[in-house]
Amino acid sequence: MGMNAFRYRDRSLVNKVAKSIREMNLNVLIMHVCGTHQDTFARYGLDNLLKECGVEVRQGPGCPVCVTTPREIEEAIVLAKAGKTVVSFGDMVRVPGKNGSLLDARAEGRDVRIVYSIEDAIAIAKETENDVVFLAVGFETTAPSTAATLVAEPPENFSVLTCHRRIPPVLDALLGMGETKIDGIIDPGHVSTIIGVKPYEEISKKHNIPQVIAGFEPLDVMMGVYMLCRQISRGEAKVENEYSRSVRYGGNSKALKLMREVFDPVDVEWRGFPKIPASGMELRRRFQDYDARKIHEDELEAVKEMEFSTPPGCRCDEVLRGLIRPQKCPLFGRGCYPSHPVGPCMVSIEGACSIEYKYGRRMAPRV
Ligand code: SF4
Repeated sequence: MGMNAFRYRDRSLVNKVAKSIREMNLNVLIMHVCGTHQDTFARYGLDNLLKECGVEVRQGPGCPVCVTTPREIEEAIVLAKAGKTVVSFGDMVRVPGKNGSLLDARAEGRDVRIVYSIEDAIAIAKETENDVVFLAVGFETTAPSTAATLVAEPPENFSVLTCHRRIPPVLDALLGMGETKIDGIIDPGHVSTIIGVKPYEEISKKHNIPQVIAGFEPLDVMMGVYMLCRQISRGEAKVENEYSRSVRYGGNSKALKLMREVFDPVDVEWRGFPKIPASGMELRRRFQDYDARKIHEDELEAVKEMEFSTPPGCRCDEVLRGLIRPQKCPLFGRGCYPSHPVGPCMVSIEGACSIEYKYGRRMAPRV
């Protein structure tokens, strides 16, 4: 850890920022869309500190594993059951689908493998003659590595089941739904490193909402909240960049170019949300030989007709829309645990429920 990291964790500075926020005398709800931000808020007790300062913090649809729909998970399970080698990140295989998870499919003898990167998936494809399907999950942060892999002409037995999603459209949708009054948004640092500042500007304008792009250290998120509160108290609605040491206005042009080359925006559903315009990423025609949905269309036909329902009592949909905090779910710590998750928000390390559970407040009073 460098000197700077210590500085960004300096408790006395954090308390100074909290004092300045408290002095603004606000009573506001702010949202962020990032598991790493939520981890910082919860790990350092900043969410409780901010609550005392009049700021309620909620994590919205900011966990890629959590927002992947049951239908997409079922597609992967169906392909595993059809004899394909399905390769995925660890959290994804544990998310319960219609009839069990990918991990359950593996227990039944299907070839489901866990990897840490898409390069590992390519290595598996090179070792086998079987069809290898990579379940590609993630926002603009991970989509560039999927794009880079496809541009580099992977083995012919390799394909991608793309579940990549874009953050700006879901923010637009969330604000448009107006289910709860959100006073400001902390934009995700990692995603913003790729997409830059510009895509958020339209959203601030359209919904008259302040936004601040923030980094991940305690002082970053506290400064982010402070900057948001300052805008709120002044009646401003612009995009500010607290994380300027990593995020440039135009983003990462190389990564953006790669994504444009490989993906087209597509309307997709998110867990907890109806179809959101241009919020997904489908492979462009040039890459259709690597598109698992095209290559394995026949096997996936049955999934199109399937109906999906939420497990009884599970309130993941509302957690993902930022309507409730995890403790409000009747199953939180009472039937739903990281070791026995009912919904995806308790599976993923980026999920609001697992983060809340991890930091030991499962017995906290309901809010
Ligand atoms: S506690 Fe479990 S069931 Fe309830 S919202 Fe969280 S993940 Fe879903």
